[in-house]
Amino acid sequence: MKTKHMYKAYLKPGKEESLKRFHPWVFSGAIARIEGQPEEGDIVEVYTAQNEFIAKGHCQIGSIAIRVLSFRQDEKIDRDFWRRKLQAAYDMRRNLHIGGNPANDTYRLVHGEGDNLPGLVVDIYGRTAVMQAHSPGMHVDRMEIADALADVMGDTIDSIYYKSESTLPYKADLYPENGFLKGSNTDNVATEYGLKFHIDWLKGQKTGFFVDQRENRALLERYAHGRTILNMFCYTGGFSVYAMRGGARLVHSVDSSAKAIDLTNKNIALNFPDDTRHTAYAEDAFKYLDRMENGFYDLIVLDPPAFAKHRDALRNALQGYRKLNAKAFEKIKPGGLLFTFSCSQAVDKDHFRTAIFTAAATTGRNVRILHQLTQPADHPVNIYHPEGEYLKGLVLYVE
Ligand code: SAH
Repeated sequence: MKTKHMYKAYLKPGKEESLKRFHPWVFSGAIARIEGQPEEGDIVEVYTAQNEFIAKGHCQIGSIAIRVLSFRQDEKIDRDFWRRKLQAAYDMRRNLHIGGNPANDTYRLVHGEGDNLPGLVVDIYGRTAVMQAHSPGMHVDRMEIADALADVMGDTIDSIYYKSESTLPYKADLYPENGFLKGSNTDNVATEYGLKFHIDWLKGQKTGFFVDQRENRALLERYAHGRTILNMFCYTGGFSVYAMRGGARLVHSVDSSAKAIDLTNKNIALNFPDDTRHTAYAEDAFKYLDRMENGFYDLIVLDPPAFAKHRDALRNALQGYRKLNAKAFEKIKPGGLLFTFSCSQAVDKDHFRTAIFTAAATTGRNVRILHQLTQPADHPVNIYHPEGEYLKGLVLYVE
């Protein structure tokens, strides 16, 4: 094992302001010089131009150069550190009665900056934890973190699956391999509000499921009764399964990925075997919306993938949201409900709302906002890191 050397980064004068307000990122442009030659993922101490300690964290190459783990000089980043942080995340979920209940054993245990662990995501699916590194530092420390996670979770889980092949910056040359760090659980049915879902953590997107839409799916269930529903960008069919339980008349799920359609059909069959109200289609969203009959659906869900992965893609992303939503406004039945979302971090609440407003205006329909939605409590936003608020949704009544 490599011996841990202490590296020091010195900020340019005045560049400590955001750290004084506990923002957890240090941008490369704020750094004057680094002492020693840290490798990606090493722990670096950060000092002001006046040589005062201000933070320490994982370093990496890129515009975010350091992700802060601690603002205390005497706090060591070791297995005990990870145990304390994971315990705090676990205690918060228990305090809020999230997870730990057979009818609801699907939740996010660690949400990066929101749990003071920038670059780390852990989702719990029944007796399996799926761990994902978004920074080289979390990758480098993965074994210590997995040990700490096993300590904190005790016998409530028996497997930890590591899934970072597509979330780490490829430039980092880390060659992460997906695989089990503990156990080997492949019994992949998890439960959310009493509904069952096959979770494909081995091959699925993200950690296998979009845990963040749980409360929004539950809201849809309340409005589903008697409605004809289109779940566009269905992935594993989360919204569709809730719509079925809510008593929808008909549910159509659409996704361009054949694998997603397969997962959706499996999840419907798991909860509503032989129920003929549901059909899934593997088709491009725009093609489907273009050819669908006017006034057929009276509830439409639009939950597309992030249109803007970076700030420079913002304009195109907003245009994408406008075009997509305009199609739904144009064709939804009078008295219909539109559940529309954006999960792009680069698109803020106001941008999104303006895009939806413009889409509505081009169709001239009378539209009212019923609900303004966001991510659930197990995806908390660190108050010092407002960028962590990424999921935005509106429920609209379209006359
Ligand atoms: N609503 C889902 C998550 C959606 S993720 C849930 O609650 O779990 C986004 C989905 O959009 C992915 O499954 C992806 O395959 C699909 N997708 C991406 N581009 C698409 C397109 N042009 N047309 C249809 N589906 C698309």
